[in-house]
Amino acid sequence: MQYQKIKNLIISIFLIALFTVLGANHIRETGRSHELLQKTIDDPEFRRDFFSDSMLQNRESLSEECKTFLTNVEKDVIYHPIPESIVDKSLKTSYVDGWMAERKYNGVSGHEGTDIMASVDKRGVYPVLSMTDGVITNLGWLEKGGYRVGITSNSGIYYYYAHLDSYANLEKGQKVKAGELLGLMGDSGYGPEGTRGQFAVHLHVGIYSFEGGRELSVNPYYVLLSLEERKLEYEFSQ
Ligand SMILES: [Zn+2]
Repeated sequence: MQYQKIKNLIISIFLIALFTVLGANHIRETGRSHELLQKTIDDPEFRRDFFSDSMLQNRESLSEECKTFLTNVEKDVIYHPIPESIVDKSLKTSYVDGWMAERKYNGVSGHEGTDIMASVDKRGVYPVLSMTDGVITNLGWLEKGGYRVGITSNSGIYYYYAHLDSYANLEKGQKVKAGELLGLMGDSGYGPEGTRGQFAVHLHVGIYSFEGGRELSVNPYYVLLSLEERKLEYEFSQ
């Protein structure tokens, strides 16, 4: 009887360990999706809302320009731009696919990016991290983007982070590593320098290619989703 109990216990421990290992592997595998390109090529429905240039996305097969763009983005991105707080679990973020949604500021335009919203609508709380290695090619105020950082990766893709509340110690021309602190999330923009509070606290992420002098942007929503399991952990609280 005693022997049977011990045997069952050993089998249970073995099964739990096995499932833990398999489960962890599953998270690792789905955590870093390299399937975006293939899905974009295979599925016209999926790519309809993927690139800014309808001329390129509506062709029967995806153009070389789009393929190169997406391949480079997949190689570039390493971390999600907003880390997890290890001290305040109420500080969460969320985002939806807002690609080309209508935006009204000095006229109507299509939203070329993804807005990562803060569960706690407080400026200067959430750290913003670089998703990629690269060089800071733009820094400072933009009427629409507020305090923004533009990082050009080694592959030439431009990553745009907007509406920051403040900057980390950054200079134009400086090299950054993926995961490096760029500043704190805010609600700056939509006015002259220093304007805040025209909308809720969020990070606007934009991803652009300027290959051959032509501006093309990709929907960051799917890129961000592929980084969901690639969030760094930071100590930040309200
Ligand atoms: Zn936005």
